[in-house]
Amino acid sequence: MDNITDLGGDVYEIDTRMAGYSGITAGYLILGDRPCLVETGTSTSAPVVRDALTSLGVGPRDLATVVVTHIHLDHAGGVGDIAGFYPEAEIVVHEKGARHLADPSRLMASARMVWGDKLDVLFGELSATDASRIRALGDSGSVDLGNGRALHSHYSPGHAKHHVGLIDSGTGDLYVGDAAGVYLPQTGDLRPATPPPDFDLDTALDSIALFEGLRPQRLLFSHYGPVTDVAETLGRSAEELRIWVDLTRQARSEGMDLDHAVAMVRERTQERYAALRSDDATAEQFELLSGAPSNVAGIMHWLDRVQP
Ligand SMILES: [Zn+2]
Repeated sequence: MDNITDLGGDVYEIDTRMAGYSGITAGYLILGDRPCLVETGTSTSAPVVRDALTSLGVGPRDLATVVVTHIHLDHAGGVGDIAGFYPEAEIVVHEKGARHLADPSRLMASARMVWGDKLDVLFGELSATDASRIRALGDSGSVDLGNGRALHSHYSPGHAKHHVGLIDSGTGDLYVGDAAGVYLPQTGDLRPATPPPDFDLDTALDSIALFEGLRPQRLLFSHYGPVTDVAETLGRSAEELRIWVDLTRQARSEGMDLDHAVAMVRERTQERYAALRSDDATAEQFELLSGAPSNVAGIMHWLDRVQP
């Protein structure tokens, strides 16, 4: 299938085709004795992911684990559907996200407030997963991949308070979720992802430092794909955060409202990203995944908390 890429080490990248777009939201299958799916993508992507797993030889009873880096709908919106397709699979998530997978009503209500009618087009509805199938992770934990191989999880808040990174003992791959920002392989651009209500600069920087300390061989971005320049890329992740926070702080100190702050930050960061100079579709991907309004709103929300 043309939405599956063999990354080596029995790891397969699956383009989940979020909202019909290609190349914006990835899931990953680690195909060992105990097959593990990292990130489900959205609810509307679940059939796409199932077809990919089927073509990789993973039948309904074969999937051992589903793990999500955090419970935002582009990462975990499909958990309920995938749990239904794969009745043996254990669902693994940070403890701060677990109850929302068992009872998504509050999560969906707040997502509906943020996205309005666009929610149905972009994500669909997260359906509930039986609580008995959910395993909650603390500050660290692990997922057995079989044959002595494991995914080790590390709590990495900052983007979201229920975020974990996961490192594969077999390959040194680090699944970074959104904690290192959003990477666009077409242009090599990297932009921060700082949405409300959880964004926190200090914990976000701590999480990037924690990732550096794990000495990964490769980063696997949920948006999007593998990156092997690990040190350089994580350095950029931290730099991008600082730049967006500095500019937003400046806009705030000048008394700008959100719309003006977004316009100012957008203009002042524009030249950093080739994507914004390339075709409209690529620029649109950036706006969808780490849009300036969402990033600036998240930073403002954090500043209101720490510097009222
Ligand atoms: Zn995301």
